[in-house]
Amino acid sequence: MAAVSAAREILRRLHEVMAAKSGAEAKLNQVVQIVARELSSEVASIYLLRDGMLELFATRGLAQEAVHVTRLSMGQGLVGVIAASREVLNLAEAKAHPDFVYRPETGEEDYHSFAGVPIVRRESAIGVLAVQHREPRDYDEVEIEALQTVAMVLSELIHGAGLVDDSQAAKARAASSEPMRLPGLKLVDGLGRGVAVFHQPRVIIEHTVADDTEAERSRVYSAFGRMREQIDAMMGQAEFVGGGDHHDVLDTYKMFAYDEGWSRRINEAIDTGLTAEAAIERVQARTRARMRSIDDPYLRERLTDLDDLSNRLLRIVSGQLGTAAQMGIRDDTILIARNLGPAELLEYDKRYLKGVVLEEGSLTAHVIIVARAMGVPVLGRVRGLFSDVSEGDELIVDAANGALLVRPQAAMITSYQAMSVLKAKQAEKFAAVRDLPAISRDGRRVAIMMNAGLADDAQALELTGADGIGLFRTEFQFLVSATLPRRERQQALYRAVLDAADTRPVVFRTIDIGGDKAVPYLLDGNDQEENPAMGWRALRLALGRPALMKIQARALLEAGAGRTLNVMFPMVSEPWEFAEAKALVESQRALLARQGHALPLAVRYGAMIEVPALIETLDTLLPMTDFVSVGTNDLTQFLFAADRANPRLADRYDWMSPAILRVLRRIVVAAKAAGVPATVCGEMGGRPLEALALMTLGVDTLSITPAGVGPIKAMVRSAELGPLSAAMAVWLDSPNVDVRAALLAAAKAQGVELGWSRG
Ligand code: PEP
Ligand code: MG
Repeated sequence: MAAVSAAREILRRLHEVMAAKSGAEAKLNQVVQIVARELSSEVASIYLLRDGMLELFATRGLAQEAVHVTRLSMGQGLVGVIAASREVLNLAEAKAHPDFVYRPETGEEDYHSFAGVPIVRRESAIGVLAVQHREPRDYDEVEIEALQTVAMVLSELIHGAGLVDDSQAAKARAASSEPMRLPGLKLVDGLGRGVAVFHQPRVIIEHTVADDTEAERSRVYSAFGRMREQIDAMMGQAEFVGGGDHHDVLDTYKMFAYDEGWSRRINEAIDTGLTAEAAIERVQARTRARMRSIDDPYLRERLTDLDDLSNRLLRIVSGQLGTAAQMGIRDDTILIARNLGPAELLEYDKRYLKGVVLEEGSLTAHVIIVARAMGVPVLGRVRGLFSDVSEGDELIVDAANGALLVRPQAAMITSYQAMSVLKAKQAEKFAAVRDLPAISRDGRRVAIMMNAGLADDAQALELTGADGIGLFRTEFQFLVSATLPRRERQQALYRAVLDAADTRPVVFRTIDIGGDKAVPYLLDGNDQEENPAMGWRALRLALGRPALMKIQARALLEAGAGRTLNVMFPMVSEPWEFAEAKALVESQRALLARQGHALPLAVRYGAMIEVPALIETLDTLLPMTDFVSVGTNDLTQFLFAADRANPRLADRYDWMSPAILRVLRRIVVAAKAAGVPATVCGEMGGRPLEALALMTLGVDTLSITPAGVGPIKAMVRSAELGPLSAAMAVWLDSPNVDVRAALLAAAKAQGVELGWSRG
């Protein structure tokens, strides 16, 4: 408690200083007097960042002639090290430290011990507060914490007085922090350079000194209440989605959220006179310092959870709840998040997003499909993301090489520029095949269509030379809307897409909502599901809410007037569902005809094959359909019983495994026999080697991510499909063949262009 009262006394006196009418420099002089006296130290000094240098601004104990004369660069001397690392130094013998530099003008040769803390604003050091003693001694935790508290208050004073330029501080920090390379998993290929922006920005603390301690106590009390409610609600939902990893994480969260020690420490900090925000941050700084000193990865992760909770508490108490998207982002943003939902990503303007980096993430999660559609590179499963990257850090996302370069050095930037040129060259090469058909060396013509879902995706048709849109995910419009899109808006989108496609075919998939594409305004109280991917989603939801489906059907029929309209239903599990959906659209066609509306010349109906059960009833289904399209994302998820959004399962099962390839072969054979065109529209087809495998199975049409069109066309044009198809037939009929390795070897032997095939 002595510590609390010492800190409280310092804060009380600082409060008086800040309230006084004197100028900022005079105030700094008073602060060093207070600190020196209250901590019984012989020297107390304040260094502030000015023109990129740390300049001695005020001191008690060092020679006054040194004020505004002693200047150190970031990283130079003990003061420079503290500012550059934003970490505390506590030394019994300052001269023994390798970074010690002697400044004769200060007269500091008389002093042995040294303790310094950074003065931080918006994550950047703007100065250093240091104390020194003649006797060699270690400063105890209480003294260091008192210094840190003073530093917090100083940060507000210094900023208020305009003594340092914040933007300069950010630049200085960027220049002084170590560059790093963090490994990750390529989720969307690409290369991007920009500046770190947190999806949930850190809270900016404007006021550190409280006017009314009781009021701050009650603010923090109610914030804890709200945070605990949120965690309990999350736990409640986790009950529905079962146990496992997610549950363990929440358990720890809950334990921390209810931890008395944590709330007590925050209250003690408030007792010293800090505001609720400053107190939370004060305690958080201690957690961070502990995090850095712990090697055990498990414990480190737990402390990261606590850090996360501190941020949540700070957001609640400060009312700064918005995401970066809601606050507006800069035009060279690299978005940083633990994980994102597709709707959250769609809130961002893709022109400004140069990359996304996630701590979690899995290849076929819808957010990744959205990112791919937006053309934004994504790197996932980057460990240490939140401890090693700060808001405003310069970053290079090199997804192809699975790396995030943090605060890159000039050499890295040069190599990034070289890579960009290379990529541009590659793009030129793909552009060269843009207007050429995808015909294999042995004369087989395949169609390369593209997947789309956003309003301006259709432009990619021209850019890529795709043969059409083989999958238009209509639910994206629902995901970006806060309310149900009205029929007119749906119709306008469909018409714009058809206009852009001109004579090329477009396949509209009716809404596939549910699973990881939840839309709040379509959920009711009963929609809490234990397993949403296998729940009330897609066609099941649409047939259960026929009014919704009818509106979409009318919008499609109206937009398709005068042309051929292709309508496809997602998640068909049994043939009757297809029949019912088709009948529903037909009923609307009849209605519009009665009302005298212009209608499509023809309507073609297709089913997505993505539920394994449907494959057993293809003999019933195929005669009803005009075409089918295999959704390998969901089909893989259901075949392997492996959640497509679970990062832990992300690369456990291979698209080139016999299980998948044999099932696909079965579908292709059945469809050919029935005379029904079968296409593949999952992410699998966007990868050159996988696409090649599909073609050897007899697939003649793929619908893939726009970025894949060029590479896949180039691949087809360099392949001789006949011999590879024959080889594939043999491999699939033999047990224990590593089809990936075998096909890769055969393709390489043929000189097939596989581009960015691996990974
Ligand atoms: C699929 O499941 O493979 C598919 C194409 O649909 P979506 O990814 O939208 O579920
Ligand atoms: Mg699907």
